[in-house]
This record gives sequence, C-alpha cells and structure tokens, in this order.
Amino acid sequence: MAHDEKIGHAVVIGAGVAGLVAARLLCDRATKVTLIERDPLGENTALRRGIPQAQHIHFLLGAGSQALGGLFPTFLEELERAGARIGDCGRDWLAFLGGVWQPRSPNGIPLVGCTRVMIEQCLRRLVTSLPNLELRAGQSVRGVSFDKAAQRVNGVRLSTPEKGTAEELLRADLVVDASGRGSRTPDWLTELGYAAPLEEEVGIDMSYVTRIYQEPPDFQADWLVIMLHPRPDGGLRGGAVQRIDKGQALVSLTGYAGVTPSLDAAGILEHARQLPQPQIHEYLQRVTPVSEPVMFRFPSNRRRFYERLARMPDGLVLLGDAVCSINPAFGHGMTLSCLAVIELGRCLDEPGALGRPGFSLRYQKRVGKAIEPGWALVVSEDFRRPQTQGKRPPGLSVLQWFNTCLTELGTLDASVYDELTRALHLLIDPIQLMKPGLLMKAVRYALRRRSQKTPTLAAANTVPSPGQTPRFVLQPPAILQRSYGIAK
Ligand SMILES: Cc1cc2nc3c(=O)[nH]c(=O)nc-3n(C[C@H](O)[C@H](O)[C@H](O)COP(=O)(O)OP(=O)(O)OC[C@H]3O[C@@H](n4cnc5c(N)ncnc54)[C@H](O)[C@@H]3O)c2cc1C
Repeated sequence: MAHDEKIGHAVVIGAGVAGLVAARLLCDRATKVTLIERDPLGENTALRRGIPQAQHIHFLLGAGSQALGGLFPTFLEELERAGARIGDCGRDWLAFLGGVWQPRSPNGIPLVGCTRVMIEQCLRRLVTSLPNLELRAGQSVRGVSFDKAAQRVNGVRLSTPEKGTAEELLRADLVVDASGRGSRTPDWLTELGYAAPLEEEVGIDMSYVTRIYQEPPDFQADWLVIMLHPRPDGGLRGGAVQRIDKGQALVSLTGYAGVTPSLDAAGILEHARQLPQPQIHEYLQRVTPVSEPVMFRFPSNRRRFYERLARMPDGLVLLGDAVCSINPAFGHGMTLSCLAVIELGRCLDEPGALGRPGFSLRYQKRVGKAIEPGWALVVSEDFRRPQTQGKRPPGLSVLQWFNTCLTELGTLDASVYDELTRALHLLIDPIQLMKPGLLMKAVRYALRRRSQKTPTLAAANTVPSPGQTPRFVLQPPAILQRSYGIAK
C-alpha cells in the first residue's frame, strides 16, 4: 500500500503501550482508527486494572526511544514537561551486568526517568489529539467478526461491561490485537476453524517487589539508574533504582526460581543486602518510603509463534505482549512492541499490501524476525540458572560463552562495549555481534583469561565514574545536551 492508499477503518484492541503506538502509526495510514480499551480512562487515569505491571520500574531501550521519537517527535519534551528526568543511558545508568560493572560514557541514548504510568499518559495524550482517532474506553472486545467467503476478519464484537449493554459489531478493514499477554486470539482462531499458534514457555518463576521512595532534599548522585543483575553463576536476586520526578525513585527488587522479596520494610532491606553489590542497600537507608510495596509475579517468558501457522485469516494482526511476553528485567517489552509497530508500517507500505492475500501471515513472519533477537538474548541469559524450565535453544552454551566474553571484554575495549551496547538496546540484531572480528577478540580474551588463572576483573568490583568522552552510539537528541537531576 502506498502511503496515500489509505485503509478505511482500523481497530486496535488495547490501549497499553503497544496499542497506543500502533494506533499512532495507523492514523497516518487509515481514514479512521478506533482504539478500544477495556479499562475506563480519564485524562489523568494513572494506575488501572489492565496494566498491573505499571507500578513497577519500566526502562525504555535505545531502539524503543528511537521508534517513539520517530512516531511522536515531541515525546521526550512532553515527558520532560510532565516532570520526567532525562539522562544519557551510557553516562547515567550504573549497570552491574554479567558480574561486572559496565563502563560509563555518554552514548546519546536517552535514559528516561519516570514511571510507566507517565509514559502511557504521555502517549495517550499525543494519540488522542489526532483528529482521526477515536478512543473507546471502558469497552471490551469479545471476539472478531468473520467473512467466511473471503476468509477475512472484518471487525470486532464489543460490549460495555459496566453498562451491561448488548454486543455491538464494529466493522474494520484491519484489526490489530494489542491486548497483552492475556490475548484471546488463539481461542478466536480455533472458533473460526483455524489452528491456534504454537506456544513456547521458558519458566523463570520470577517475582518483583516495588516501592516508591522520597530522596532527602540534599540528595546528590551522579546517576539516574542503578541496575544490579544477578551474578551469572546462578545468582537469584536482582534489583534496580530509577530516579523519577518529584525527587522520588522507584526501587524494584527481583527474585528468580521462587525467591520472593518480602513485602515488609525489613524483608526489602534484607533482599537488597543480598544483592551482588551494595549500592541499592545503601540507597534504601537514605530514602523514605512513600508508597506501599507491591508485588508482581512473572512465571515465564512466553512466545506465540503466529508466524509458523500454515494459514491465518487476513484482516487480523497481533503485536506486543500478545505475541511475546519476556523477562521484564531486561527492559525489552515496550521496545519489542515498538519494533513490531515499525514492521507493521513497512508491511502496509508495500504496494497493494492489505489487498494481497496472506498479509497477516506475512506480517507475523516479520514480527517473528523482529522479536527473535531479543527473545534469544533474554532466554539464553535466563538459562544460566539451572532452575529455568523449558526447551534449551540450540547453541546455547556457545551463545552464553560469547556473551560472557563480550560483557567482560567490553569493560576493557571501548569498541566492543559500543557494539554490545547497540545489541543490548536492540539497535542492532545481537546476532550481528557474531562477526569474525568480534569472535576473534572473544577467543583471544578467553585464552588470556584462562592463562592468567585469576579471572577477577577490576571492573567486577569497581564502580565506574561517568566518563566524559562522548561515544554517540546514536546522534543525541538536543534534550541530552542538558542534564536533569544529575550531580556532576
Ligand atoms: C513487572 C514488569 C516490568 C516491566 N518492565 C519493563 C521495562 O523495564 N521495559 C519494557 O520495555 N517493558 C517492561 N515490561 C513489559 C511491558 O510492560 C510490556 O511489554 C509493554 O508495555 C507492551 O505491553 P502491551 O501493550 O502489549 O500489553 P499490556 O500492557 O498488557 O496492555 C494491554 C491492554 O489491552 C487491554 N485489553 C486487554 N484485553 C482487552 C479486550 N478484550 N478489549 C479491550 N481492551 C483489552 C488491557 O486493559 C491493557 O490496557 C515490564 C513488564 C512487567 C510485568
């Protein structure tokens, strides 16, 4: 479809991040877009039933910022106006990853310091200001309508649960299911006589506990985020601090394989004390809680392989958590959703796209490709813990060995670190790291490491100070020329 060849009516199910971003993209390509959200929404709706994860830390990776910046050019400025702190991922993110502290130097990737609620409110404000967008909040999609002769989904059936009204049929040329992990599309497909997609689960039995804290007025720090990943040799405890607006910070503690942070102050401190580095424990002793702790359980990474279906009705596509819901500690979810939306734009922009049979399956194949790198990376890291359940991917130990080498070598070699950063932010496919130059460096590093017999890296224990040499993995947006809430 050329850009001026418009879709008549597009319906998006779910106004989470994936749905909002998809709706924005479709507004350029459809005469009318209807965004349907089960939860009632007001202008300032913050926490709501459909998004329980919104109470927990949400990081936006580089590829996500880039995609959002393309679709919503004022996104960062809007967040800043709402009070978010904007920093630089290379300089202001103190990351203990793979058992080593990552180097710090500005890299031009924005680091967004705000709640997921603020991100969603901002996206919602921007999307609902578009003239061809109708938001129908408080309405629930019950199923799809189907044109049997054409084998096409041609609309949705919805109802307003609070009012108990009869079902309404809303016709559409394209339906996008962005209804999250609980998506009902597998059931809808079987009801229509199609097969449900194969599903893969990688069980990690993870728990999150999050609380908001107030920093004292004189609090100074040269970072916006501390992220402590569990040690790669079987560690089960992780945690993160994200400084946000109003001098507050979210602190999320995580446990794997059934290790669950407690919901009381003493238990939270004890979990923080057992983290691989002391910074979060020290931080918690300087700040005051201003919210009750909340828990979220995340049993498994889950992927639905729509791209492997032999046939799928046209007129219906899926993206976001409805396709792939992945270990949140890696911060991939919103970014993978954005990448899938960008693919939707590319697919729709092909000549005659929607009219050509097989559009939905063609699109899902591209979503599968867009998701694969993130999925492979996260799952291979999760399988470092022997308690992780599921099918181990082929080549797992080579991938883990390579990741270990690159993560450690990145603390010594700036060019390796830059490549790794691009991959971790999903700006490139991590598989691109498997090129001869980097493989050689990894092998040489592994040999050196083995011959030294003492594999302890200085970077394992020394907290890096922010370097001043800019590396500019991305061209930094003007907003990063300034710095928010960071003590120099
Ligand atoms: C604890 C936790 C922490 C996370 N941290 C990060 C992070 O740091 N970085 C990151 O990028 N991602 C993170 N994620 C993942 C991220 O929240 C999601 O991947 C991302 O928001 C995309 O979700 P979504 O929009 O596809 O689905 P959801 O956020 O689940 O939204 C689905 C929406 O659809 C609505 N809906 C559902 N069914 C219907 C229906 N039948 N009719 C109408 N509406 C319906 C729901 O009410 C909801 O609003 C985290 C997730 C969790 C659980």
